[in-house]
Amino acid sequence: MKFICDDNLGKLASYLRILGFDTHFEENIDDDSLLKTASAEKRTLLTRDRKLATRIHPYGILIIEDDDPLRQLNFAATELNLKIDPSNLFNRCSKCNEICRIVNKDEISDEVFPFILKTQAVIKQCPSCRRYYWKGSHYKNILKKLISSIPEEALTSSWPDF
Ligand SMILES: [Zn+2]
Repeated sequence: MKFICDDNLGKLASYLRILGFDTHFEENIDDDSLLKTASAEKRTLLTRDRKLATRIHPYGILIIEDDDPLRQLNFAATELNLKIDPSNLFNRCSKCNEICRIVNKDEISDEVFPFILKTQAVIKQCPSCRRYYWKGSHYKNILKKLISSIPEEALTSSWPDF
């Protein structure tokens, strides 16, 4: 399942990306472009805008009412019966939606702190924004939030260790 989030749902879009879902998000996108992209790319539309629900979209529209991004995620996972594989966490850049690549640590020694290189088995990089991802404190914080908000029925494997 692929998604497109309206521009009120940026945080939800990044959680969906972190969970591995291909999610389109663009700031200040207008309603017509939102629906056009959703149809062209076969994406389910997630929106806070009730009036959009009156428009016809073949790949489905889910109206999100909650303000809180983690409760939004819980709602979407339940309503859309999402299947989430936690072994896919952080494979996709939360900013760009691109699939990250595992990098050769020898090649990034001048870009990443030596402590990180020494303590992390795997470091990934987004091919678009060049941002690095590893299992540091940021990862742990997000993982905790995801564990507390994703319904257990949605999981296809268990959560990774901290
Ligand atoms: Zn990126």
